[in-house]
Amino acid sequence: MRVRARTSGLDGVCPRCGDVSRRTHAWHLRRLADLPAAGRGLVIDLRVRRLICGNAACRQKTFRPRTWPP
Ligand SMILES: [Zn+2]
Repeated sequence: MRVRARTSGLDGVCPRCGDVSRRTHAWHLRRLADLPAAGRGLVIDLRVRRLICGNAACRQKTFRPRTWPP
């Protein structure tokens, strides 16, 4: 059994400066198999975005939005 999921398309908020960004830097594929249901063969392929902070004064160039899973 396999589930594909994406984090929502909502804007991300930079954890350093608080600026809102919707500029996607990259997608990462995160496989979740360490779940209680994994014993039944459940694998979740979760695509996670990495966003670019648009604040030129911010040293946090890219960040991952705070979404599920934490
Ligand atoms: Zn920032």
